[in-house]
Amino acid sequence: MRFNTRAIHGGQPHDPQTGAVTFPIYQTSTFDQDYPGKPNEFLGRELSYARTENPSRTALEMALAELEDAKFGLAFASGLSAVAAIMNTLSEGDGVVACADLYGGCYRMFTKVYSKLGIRFRFADTTCLPNIEEALDGSTKILWLESPSNPLLNITDLTSASALAKSKGVITVVDNTFATPYLQNPLKLGADVVLHSTTKYINGHADVIGGAVITDNEQLYSKIKFVQNACGLVPGPNDCFLIQRGLRTLGLRMERHCENAMLLAAWLASHPKVEKVYYPGLETHPGHQIAKRQMKRFGAMLSFDLKASEADSKAFTTRLKYFTLAESLGAHQSLICHPPSMTHASVEPEVRKAVGISDGLIRISVGLEDADDLIEDLSEALSAL
Ligand SMILES: *Cc1c(COP(=O)(O)O)cnc(C)c1O
Repeated sequence: MRFNTRAIHGGQPHDPQTGAVTFPIYQTSTFDQDYPGKPNEFLGRELSYARTENPSRTALEMALAELEDAKFGLAFASGLSAVAAIMNTLSEGDGVVACADLYGGCYRMFTKVYSKLGIRFRFADTTCLPNIEEALDGSTKILWLESPSNPLLNITDLTSASALAKSKGVITVVDNTFATPYLQNPLKLGADVVLHSTTKYINGHADVIGGAVITDNEQLYSKIKFVQNACGLVPGPNDCFLIQRGLRTLGLRMERHCENAMLLAAWLASHPKVEKVYYPGLETHPGHQIAKRQMKRFGAMLSFDLKASEADSKAFTTRLKYFTLAESLGAHQSLICHPPSMTHASVEPEVRKAVGISDGLIRISVGLEDADDLIEDLSEALSAL
């Protein structure tokens, strides 16, 4: 099965009870048993209590696995609870090497929550393989990668980074939120685990918070599934339904997202008031060749610096008609944000500076509107600078 067929048919059973072609929302907290300790079986799972198993979640998990063409999927209450589930498989003294330029919420969780519990985090510029090699040591259990990264769209060569980690017995986790399973499949490139904030493109409609972990490794799957239940990191059935509804059109949406983003990136790059555009689809981007190899297209996230002060750059983000000033990304509608004061406010200013996030950086999540309207909107706001 090819991607769009998998997104519609893969792991998406009709309801076996009623034949409902759209899998229903099982809004219940528990399930009856005919005899103590003999729960009903449904879709191959035992139904005892809805934190442990809920058919609406099972249906979503099967569909999520199919999106990455993988064996196992797990759904979580948020992207960050999916991250926490992976961190909870570690023990005191274990190490994690993470890319330096990563989602601010992950950085905050690593440095403020799990550091306190004795997990050791090191951050490296993973776009350069020797940096990873230098950061890995005997205690490292996980190499944590984002490609393209947030907010600078840096590209890490996932094939060689995963191979290096594997040679040292280290598990590679790729946060594939920006790329989506339509554009990039890290498991096929050698990674062990893929993570998604399904809040973003997979749901795609800016109306739910969710997360996913996908893997082919049964042992890792069992460990993370244990934490999902033991720590109660589960999404409710309504949210599962919405995410499953969204993911069926992921391929269609990504084609349009990417087409619009390429047009906007090229237009911005040639604008006299724009200092620099960060978009892996531009040939001038240092990761362009690697992105071309490991991604189907280049995604729809882009960042840029204006030839303007921090204050003017911030004011610019409020002057647009079709770009909503808001955190998050991957929605049908275009969103704009100022990472230093929004998504990356929890990253210390000196750390932001060291990884190259300027004080005036602007990030755009290019939506599904008509590209000409988006360009006209940017053009008008830029002329007011
Ligand atoms: C949003 C995001 C997360 C966190 O997901 P939530 O659903 O907000 O908890 C993690 N990684 C990346 C790259 C994200 O964009």
